[in-house]
Amino acid sequence: MAIDRRQFVRLAYAAPLLSLAGCANRTVSKPYSAHVVVIGGGFAGATAAKTLRLLAPDIKVTLVEQNPVYMTCPTSNWVLAGLKSNGDLRVDYQALMKKHQIEVVIDQAVAIDNDRKQVSLRQGGRLHYDRLILAPGNDFIWDEVEGMDASKPDLIPHAWKAGRQTETLRRQLMSMPENGRVIIVAPQNPFRCPPGPYERASLMAYYCQRYKPKAKIVILDHKRGFSKQSLFMQGWRRLYGYGTDRSMIEWISIADNPVVSISDKRQLETDFGDRFNADVLNFIPRQKAGSLAQQTGLTDVSGWCPVDPVSSESRLMADIHVIGDAAIFKGIPKSAFAANSEAKACAFAIVALLNGDRPTDPLWMNTCYSLLSSDQAISVSMVYKLNAEKQIIKVKAAGGISTKTDKASLKQESLYARNWYQSITHDSFL
Ligand code: FAD
Repeated sequence: MAIDRRQFVRLAYAAPLLSLAGCANRTVSKPYSAHVVVIGGGFAGATAAKTLRLLAPDIKVTLVEQNPVYMTCPTSNWVLAGLKSNGDLRVDYQALMKKHQIEVVIDQAVAIDNDRKQVSLRQGGRLHYDRLILAPGNDFIWDEVEGMDASKPDLIPHAWKAGRQTETLRRQLMSMPENGRVIIVAPQNPFRCPPGPYERASLMAYYCQRYKPKAKIVILDHKRGFSKQSLFMQGWRRLYGYGTDRSMIEWISIADNPVVSISDKRQLETDFGDRFNADVLNFIPRQKAGSLAQQTGLTDVSGWCPVDPVSSESRLMADIHVIGDAAIFKGIPKSAFAANSEAKACAFAIVALLNGDRPTDPLWMNTCYSLLSSDQAISVSMVYKLNAEKQIIKVKAAGGISTKTDKASLKQESLYARNWYQSITHDSFL
């Protein structure tokens, strides 16, 4: 039966509850018959820990997270336009500890010894595991552009991890000259949140339209095209004069002419010698899996972690499962929704494996909303499954992109975007 996009969105919210209810009796037999350690308390790790506890109260679950408070990247672009504050992005681990009896350890995992099934923590502790879930998110590749490294967050913030840099970028936008120029450098694929740089440009334009109408936002893109491109461009035409001389947003592909150097005066130079000057420079570096994954030997030449999509178990090390942005789920974008979906599938697989069963083929879902302005949004949704060769494919006729561009529909999408954020945050952390 074909389902349309609206039906898909309803199903997407119902599915996790239905699937958990259906599996409530699939517990391992003895109390704490196994110990699963989860490293990384983002959308992937938090959801995996919570789902494991809901599915199998007999499994002890320990979540290791280096920060006591998690700042959600979803809706962090909204902070740049003043539609939210950084404080609105904060989530803590109290509910996971108190409501779900997950042992939360605030510490950094510094080494994994998979032969001994042991995780070493920065403060000296050690945790033994039967199975390990690694969800460290992404890291950045700094050595490709001369003059750039991780030491310049106050001068050139990437703000691709929410928090202090989001605040810095917001302050820079507010204090730049009236006719200032923002340059957003968008990275090569794959990277977290494919529509993120373009939502960011939209919301910076929304802010500038009100407070700095002569300003310009230039996107220098290391790709030839981008997620929801036609929807973004239609929105930019309607709202920000895109395609005219007075456009607030300019998009330039530099796929064949990458950025090679950046000076401390926020001047960047490309391979062919083109120079661009910025008042605010938002350079988003190319990305790879979080450093612990690299260091443990869980990544391949791509810099990301290859996994068996059925169980999310690493293809390089047994008993370690990798989920979220760090993992390769080919075809599924790196998003919070996808991380949440991968985490649930991973938890089901681990319970099955600990029970001596074979994990069943999962389904994954993703929806990404992007705000064009305070009350207009667009979205893309998709359901994914495995084909006979165990490759991830899109489920035909499920999902799609938003098609209606009348004001009422765009406003409705912006309400869905707000509700989605509440739902996914609750589903993952509360
Ligand atoms: P993360 O969220 O990065 O979590 C990883 C966690 O692991 C972190 O808390 C980190 O502190 C911890 N960690 C790492 N290493 C260690 C260690 N050694 N020891 C202990 N802890 C460790 N997605 C959407 O679905 N919708 C959106 O609207 C959306 N908007 C976005 C907007 C922006 C600007 C950005 C940048 C991203 C957006 N995303 C969105 C993408 C989304 O944020 C990521 O895909 C998601 O956070 C991935 O979750 P994760 O758990 O894999 O990684």
